[in-house]
Amino acid sequence: QSITTDMATLTRQVKKFATDKKLEIEMLKDREEYRREFLGNVSHELKTPLFTVQSYISTLLEGAHKDKVLRKKYLERAEKGVERLVYIVEDLDMISKLEMGDERLNLTEFDIVELSQNVMDLLEIEANKKDISLSFDSKYFKSIMVLADYEKIQQVMINLVMNSIKYGKEGGSTEIGIENLTNNKVIVRVTDNGEGIEKQNIPRLFERFYRVDKSGARSEGGSGLGLAIVKHIIEAHDEKIFVKSTFRKGSEFSFTLEKV
Ligand code: ADP
Repeated sequence: QSITTDMATLTRQVKKFATDKKLEIEMLKDREEYRREFLGNVSHELKTPLFTVQSYISTLLEGAHKDKVLRKKYLERAEKGVERLVYIVEDLDMISKLEMGDERLNLTEFDIVELSQNVMDLLEIEANKKDISLSFDSKYFKSIMVLADYEKIQQVMINLVMNSIKYGKEGGSTEIGIENLTNNKVIVRVTDNGEGIEKQNIPRLFERFYRVDKSGARSEGGSGLGLAIVKHIIEAHDEKIFVKSTFRKGSEFSFTLEKV
């Protein structure tokens, strides 16, 4: 009797061991696949700006440096390329930390209205380049305290407002609004009247490296990581992110936060 029981237990253990190993192998395979895809994307992203920088420097070395006007123009373009590389590398650093779960949230209480105003001040120069007005919905000028990671929420706001400028139209506008929700939450909205997003592209927006316009021709194109970073940060806070958009009319990105 006891031998049969032991055999049954042993068989069960062996089966469990085999299942666990299979799961572990699947997980490692997924991770390997992820790493391969990620590396492929990274080198693809870095190639364009690196090529730009390289070609301007080569042209300068080949003689363009003798012409004062060309020298300035090409050096400025090379600098732009390097700037883009820096952005991309910073975004890559951020997304890999977030995806590995290495980043801890540093929760503090702060005024989200004040943070919104700081972000608008920070991006005013960018907005001016396209004559886009940044405004704050004046209904909510009072302070609203939230509990969240200040630096990370600042990053979220920068990415969203920066996108509203990048994909906004000349002379357009971006508005930040904050509203109290009933369940001890607030919702922060960033609304633009820019190019909008076609319905079929909306579900993929938050994927790493996803861009609606894949041509790469857009000069102000970022890393394609901005919204993936935003989603990670909001989800790490156990909060929600929403997007509403009408093609050629504009977009609204919003997210919730916990009120103090
Ligand atoms: P990118 O570096 O390309 O801006 P993001 O992850 O920030 O990467 O955004 C992904 C894509 O979503 C963008 O390439 C763009 O096509 C679209 N997008 C993001 N924000 C907006 C917006 N406010 N209006 C229109 N399209 C947007």
